[in-house]
Amino acid sequence: MSNKKINLLNLTRDGMVEFFKELGEKPFRATQVLKWIHQFGVEDFAEMTNISKACRTKLKDIAEIKGPEVVSVQESADGTIKWALHIPGGQAIEMVFIPERHRGTLCVSSQVGCALECSFCSTGYQGFNRNLSTAEIIGQVWLAARHLNGLHKSDNRAVTNVVMMGMGEPLANYEPVVNAMELMMDDNAYGLSKRRVTLSTSGMVPQLKRLIEDIDVALAISLHAPNDPLRDILVPINKKYPINELMPAIHHYLERSNAARKVTIEYVMLKGINDSLEHARQLASLLKGTPCKINLIPFNPFPQSDYETSTQQSIDLFSDFLIKKGYLVVTRRTRGDDIDAACGQLAGKINDKTKRQSRREQDTSKEYQKQIAVEIR
Ligand code: SAH
Ligand code: SF4
Repeated sequence: MSNKKINLLNLTRDGMVEFFKELGEKPFRATQVLKWIHQFGVEDFAEMTNISKACRTKLKDIAEIKGPEVVSVQESADGTIKWALHIPGGQAIEMVFIPERHRGTLCVSSQVGCALECSFCSTGYQGFNRNLSTAEIIGQVWLAARHLNGLHKSDNRAVTNVVMMGMGEPLANYEPVVNAMELMMDDNAYGLSKRRVTLSTSGMVPQLKRLIEDIDVALAISLHAPNDPLRDILVPINKKYPINELMPAIHHYLERSNAARKVTIEYVMLKGINDSLEHARQLASLLKGTPCKINLIPFNPFPQSDYETSTQQSIDLFSDFLIKKGYLVVTRRTRGDDIDAACGQLAGKINDKTKRQSRREQDTSKEYQKQIAVEIR
């Protein structure tokens, strides 16, 4: 019975207005209910005291407010919190909260696994099961806000920023991701400014080209390599949408966006793979004329990977070179080390439909990654 109920976490503002219209209620009910759900974290209609009893009874019959179920919560020594969330079908996804002095960033997942198979990413390694719904995406923010407000009322560690950098490729799950980001920015929901909501993509060009028509948020691009042969290996979607198609799509977005005056270029630092001065030189010339900030991410290892993290010395040389060329460069500090909560370490529990894991195991080229290293030197 209950699975026939409509989950109100799935509804954006427009959806909520439509929903109440069909119920024969006034449109302002939509605002009231959005606030109860997202600003007060309420899940029981009985608590919505400014709504008539008759309306509440009706809502209880046909609707529900159902966030993801928490499997476990781990808190790191540095304050980072990682949640494992149960997703129907025996799956689990992960979400991470990173507190800093003046902000609290929530790293949200968009899919159960990821089909894009970037060779340095634990999520990609796990394979793909399915897309998350709007409710399952915004439900992560809803859940974290409830948890943090309850636990830390005194130290104000609320969610101030959201990054779509958890498990999954957000642009491969377009509508639910756009809907959820709309709610993140809605004044009657989380009211985050558009510069505080970041979409990170490995470069799905057609979706990136249409994105600005639908939503204006901050943009991060997982570039990771300054030329096609290397990017084809690290970020295989590059074979379909190579760098000379990706760059114009980024410019298209930036030119029309108010939120993204600069694009954040994400570049994972892999020892002996993409971290030489020659790579830095190529990167500097590729990004010439693109307003950007370069985010160097020391590779976060996971058990199945043979890649290694670049040495601090090569990261410094790489960074210094780009800074001298006039770029803004930030080296990302790894957070939540002790609970495997860093970028690319989120694995969850995925029933892989792409058979990626078994293909990998059968792959006789266990030497594969080493071979890559040789090819690109
Ligand atoms: N699918 C999206 C967003 C999720 S990944 C994307 O690829 O952009 C978030 C960021 O973590 C991306 O920049 C990704 O390339 C990076 N990442 C993945 N695996 C990593 C690893 N093992 N170490 C460091 N960064 C990693
Ligand atoms: Fe997917 Fe992003 Fe991981 Fe690539 S880096 S496999 S796109 S989650």
